[in-house]
Amino acid sequence: MQTPASYRGRFAPSPTGPLHFGSLVAAVGSYLDARHQQGEWLLRVEDIDAPREVAGATDDILRTLELLHMEWDGPVVYQSKRTPLYEEALDELQRRGYLYQCGCTRKEIADSAIRTQAGAVYPGTCRNGLPPGRSPRSVRLRVNNTAVGMQDRLQSGLHQQLQTDTGDFIVRRADQLIAYQLAVVVDDADQGINHVVRGADLLESTPRQIYLQQLLGLPTPSYLHLPIATDAGNAKLSKQSFATPITTDDGHHAVLDALRFLHQALPDSPQDASLDELWKWAADHWDTGTIPACRVLPAPAQYAESAEHS
Ligand code: GLU
Repeated sequence: MQTPASYRGRFAPSPTGPLHFGSLVAAVGSYLDARHQQGEWLLRVEDIDAPREVAGATDDILRTLELLHMEWDGPVVYQSKRTPLYEEALDELQRRGYLYQCGCTRKEIADSAIRTQAGAVYPGTCRNGLPPGRSPRSVRLRVNNTAVGMQDRLQSGLHQQLQTDTGDFIVRRADQLIAYQLAVVVDDADQGINHVVRGADLLESTPRQIYLQQLLGLPTPSYLHLPIATDAGNAKLSKQSFATPITTDDGHHAVLDALRFLHQALPDSPQDASLDELWKWAADHWDTGTIPACRVLPAPAQYAESAEHS
């Protein structure tokens, strides 16, 4: 008898600060979706962006997940240790003529570019060679004008015409670091991830990731983009805006709040259940059909005030 392909999901936090309510929602959603389907849940620390890393944040995030009794499968994977894999993918794209050096600064692009939902569209200035007098900064990937479509298990599907929606995008940054879009695609494939559950702030990035998967001959996982938690000013809760960290004294409460945020049913007297009982119950009753299919939702007030405002 053929067994169905087994579920493998992941949580991929960037260590730019402690876990806050927004990242907890992504952790809870990806964890329960995996456990509901008897799947594996892997943990990948996206620490490729060293300049944005905050000392101690990785340990802090791992410790919080442990204290919340969210058990991951296998060893934690660190992007910072996987550069050779990313370089291999870049070499292949280079050999096939998809890459070129770009001398534009971020400011020049911001000044001249058209903006779409996906961000500033690169106008193609260096596509046919660096203009005279310019030195190379970043490396870009050529896109074409075929539409890239994606289906999402929650949000409405998305089609992007990469040429007009994003333009050629960066795969190696001006500081020579590997760009997120490339690293995430290489990692998801290398780790055998077939289900991605993450925040809807990454929805607009997904067609670029699918394009890269297609170029590199990698499978496309199924995607579910959860609503992201916003603060009182409608901004995404983020580590950079010093969103209130989840502390483990109120961990039980925070898990219940994350379940409520995702419109999941709760057991009777949820405050009396142990964390392990709560996870078991929540995994059994996990229902993606009740999650609001919107990109943003206000966080409960106690998580929505950033330290900057308080
Ligand atoms: N590292 C990203 C973040 O913390 C998530 C990337 C992903 O899930 O694809 O926002």
